[in-house]
Amino acid sequence: MDSSEPFYGPDFAGLAAQDPDVARVLLDEVARLRGGLQLIAGENLSSSAVLAALGSVLNDKYAEGYPGHRYYRGCEEADHAERIAVERAKRLFGADHANVQPYSGITAILAAYAALLQPGDTVLALALEHGGHITHGSKASFSGRWFDVVSYGVRRDTETIDYDEVRDLALRHRPRVIVCGATAYPRLIDFAAFRAIADEAGAWLLADVAHEMGLMAGGAIPSAVPYADVVTFTTHKSLRGPRGGGVLCTDELAPGIDRAVFPFSQGGPLMHVVAAKAVAFGEALRPEFRVYAASAVDNARTLVEGLAAEGLRPVSGGTDTHLALVDLRGAGVSGTEAERRCAEAGILLGHNAIPYDPAPATVTSGIRVGTLCTTTQGMGAAEMREIASLIVRAIRHPGAITSVLERVKGLTATHPAYPR
Ligand SMILES: *Cc1c(COP(=O)(O)O)cnc(C)c1O
Repeated sequence: MDSSEPFYGPDFAGLAAQDPDVARVLLDEVARLRGGLQLIAGENLSSSAVLAALGSVLNDKYAEGYPGHRYYRGCEEADHAERIAVERAKRLFGADHANVQPYSGITAILAAYAALLQPGDTVLALALEHGGHITHGSKASFSGRWFDVVSYGVRRDTETIDYDEVRDLALRHRPRVIVCGATAYPRLIDFAAFRAIADEAGAWLLADVAHEMGLMAGGAIPSAVPYADVVTFTTHKSLRGPRGGGVLCTDELAPGIDRAVFPFSQGGPLMHVVAAKAVAFGEALRPEFRVYAASAVDNARTLVEGLAAEGLRPVSGGTDTHLALVDLRGAGVSGTEAERRCAEAGILLGHNAIPYDPAPATVTSGIRVGTLCTTTQGMGAAEMREIASLIVRAIRHPGAITSVLERVKGLTATHPAYPR
């Protein structure tokens, strides 16, 4: 090759020639993804355009600060990338302000807490055992160590959020921040109800919609943005972009949020990831993405109906989003055992506690399934019905694993991941 020809980005042949060990890993990973059904709720398959921006020269630039206000010189193109990402995010989500620098969902939440709270302040959030995320008060995370976290739960009968309980707790404990949003909650969240409770209790409302932001952007479910003071999200789940996070907020909170991301909790932004976020937001602004978001929800509903028809009870009776929780007690199989049997049959899903789970957290009585990957692969209602019956067969009849795996291979052959 002409040595004056610049190199702009990914070069798999070059990698394979220089480092066959790592190149082999990438080839095997694609084979793994193509060889099974990915139903892990927070995973998706990003586009080649997103991957190209990720594997680009922007990896190399130090750009601490924000567009127009960087610590180092030479940030003109980094500024450009970030301005495109921010403008697209604001348009896509209808937000006053967007910070696209968070390295992950967790660092987005860390920044939101840092902007709104002091150590020792009270936070009201959904209990982990009922679908909350570890950043909503677990002692294993900064959230439970640095703040005084009070938890609300779901009702035993409906397995949905008890808004009366949220209000009672908010008025009794007077939290500075109320967190809504979850990692394993299949139903719509009533953001207007949370807004009213936050106003009555004099609290900030933080919506952590890490999973659902893409569904909201695509108009498949109602958005949290008009109601919450701060919205945190990831860009790799339903938004189908690079791994990373983001924060949306009102103009009033913008300076505090920006300082809380940098320099309070992060250093130099990952500019290649910021560029890839811009690509993903651009994709999500297209009409096709609205179709995708609606299909992910339709597919989850069809999948859950299929599971229910064969005796696997959906928690809360169904789903409104791309994910569902399934109670396996009727099948007499634990969550971890079901996860293992399905994995052997080429179906990847996750064990998950169900509300009021009698089993230990390391075993659980449930599984969580999601439709983000299969929908990206173009699967629809017919495939969902078949996947539901394959899951039931894998769980109930371990002897049938080989025949289930054969059908899984059939589905992935007609709807491959990362098609040419
Ligand atoms: C996935 C998730 C996160 C964390 O995102 P990471 O990018 O893994 O840090 C935070 N909150 C909720 C509700 C999530 O589902």
